[in-house]
Amino acid sequence: MIVFDDVHKSYGTFEVLKGISATVEKGEVVCLIGPSGSGKSTLLRCVNGLESYQKGRITVDGLLVDVNDPTIHALRTRVAKVFQRFNLFPHRTALENVIEGPVHVLGQPKAEARDYALELLARVGLSHKIDAYPAALSGGQQQRVAIARALAMRPEAILFDEPTSALDPEMVGDVLQVMRSLADEHMTMLVVTHEIQFAREVADRVLFLDGGTIVEQGTADQVLRAPQNERTQDFLRRVT
Ligand code: ADP
Ligand code: MG
Repeated sequence: MIVFDDVHKSYGTFEVLKGISATVEKGEVVCLIGPSGSGKSTLLRCVNGLESYQKGRITVDGLLVDVNDPTIHALRTRVAKVFQRFNLFPHRTALENVIEGPVHVLGQPKAEARDYALELLARVGLSHKIDAYPAALSGGQQQRVAIARALAMRPEAILFDEPTSALDPEMVGDVLQVMRSLADEHMTMLVVTHEIQFAREVADRVLFLDGGTIVEQGTADQVLRAPQNERTQDFLRRVT
């Protein structure tokens, strides 16, 4: 579904991604871990064309991701993203936040978008909060609205950039539970996370990124239980 082929990206003379090659298969959950500044967020931004890259190729379902191509807008609707900060529209209710994309970007009839939004909000456990504004929701609830909003676009894949790292500890479990349920339904997901336990349980594969290079990749068991690379071992010692 997502293929990285020798992707290089620089900011000025600073090379952030130094030849990334990896794949995320359809229905697979891939967790991307690595120290701060290693290029994780940059890599995700390149996938849905929020950022350009200079060399190599990224394809989504066979289509080249090229920020200069007019089809990039269509591609962005096929790959949804959930951010660390929830990024909801502050002056819209939970329900309005979820309906916004389907109606204004996809041109769906409002009634249809509303029905599906209600279903999705129920699914993330927020049926009782559909008319609440973001400010009246906890961080964990806002993040679950953000996930419902991503799902409303019926994406082929969802990118998560540290979706729980801005949350109070007691909120983390509910959000991970929603992500786990998506994984059970074989949603294709690329997840940047420091939740090693979640990665252990849910990830089909884990990529360890350090200094713009994938230092190690393999199954969750291989990378998280028996890492071969010294840098992976060192990182895991520090975060677990
Ligand atoms: P991570 O998500 O792994 O913490 P990032 O992808 O955010 O890492 O950043 C990787 C490196 O690129 C960091 O050194 C960061 O300072 C740098 N960087 C990120 N965004 C920009 C930008 N817009 N301009 C210049 N440097 C950037
Ligand atoms: Mg980041």
